[in-house]
Amino acid sequence: MKIELASSYGFCFGVKRAIKIAEEHKGSVTYGPLIHNKDEINRLQEGFGIGIARNIDDVNIDDSVVIRTHGIPKDELTQLKAQENEIIDATCPYVTTPQNIVAKMSDEGYSIVIFGDKDHPEIKGVVSYAKDLRNAFIVEDEKELEGLPILSKVAVVAQTTRKPEDFLRVVNALILAHKEVRVFNTICNATFENQDAAAELAKDADVMIVIGGRHSSNTKQLHSICKSYCEESYLIENEKELESSWFEGKKLCGISAGASTPDWVVQNVIDKIQSIK
Ligand code: SF4
Repeated sequence: MKIELASSYGFCFGVKRAIKIAEEHKGSVTYGPLIHNKDEINRLQEGFGIGIARNIDDVNIDDSVVIRTHGIPKDELTQLKAQENEIIDATCPYVTTPQNIVAKMSDEGYSIVIFGDKDHPEIKGVVSYAKDLRNAFIVEDEKELEGLPILSKVAVVAQTTRKPEDFLRVVNALILAHKEVRVFNTICNATFENQDAAAELAKDADVMIVIGGRHSSNTKQLHSICKSYCEESYLIENEKELESSWFEGKKLCGISAGASTPDWVVQNVIDKIQSIK
């Protein structure tokens, strides 16, 4: 059986960057989990003494604090600065962009629309940069725009992981209902590169292994894309979950991994599959 990796898989630029920053600051704490992968968080804890602060109360006065990839709300950042903690910002630059746009546009008197998930840490951070929260609206889809008053000036951004076609529907609805609409495309391509590559490979594979955290939305999405092309697609967190029966009589095993899955976890899975076949 041949084993083939998708042409694009695993860590995106923002996650690689955040991990490198954390590794360079041994003994620091990350504000919230740095990324959505518990094996990698454990590796950073064991190898580099990196702790996790779940909230402000968890942060000691002398802690160096690494701001996670998805960013944090502005008031929490202000509080950390006021406590005089050393701040090491590992926010992905693609997440800083919508934060800055929201700050600038709301400063210029624009109402803000954010297309995204209001419970996601990235969006909690982005909305916090609006000057007036009563004038900032988070919507999951265009239907949620219906109750909005007519806005004279509105600026719209998207969560970095949203699909462009869904964003377009929100933008269309805004243009039809409001006077001046400024559109900022803040979608990041990293997720789609992994998805396109996994779909290509799944078309040819007899079995697809998708590696990533069970709670990672982009890993679940990758798995469902693979499953639509290759019925025998399995989502695993690490090599311990592999079952030898999945590979019986198979010719091509495809492998993909979510955006928070480290290469060493992927390599462990490949080694184990090789030992099975
Ligand atoms: S998916 Fe894009 S925005 Fe999110 S961390 Fe990765 S590079 Fe940054």
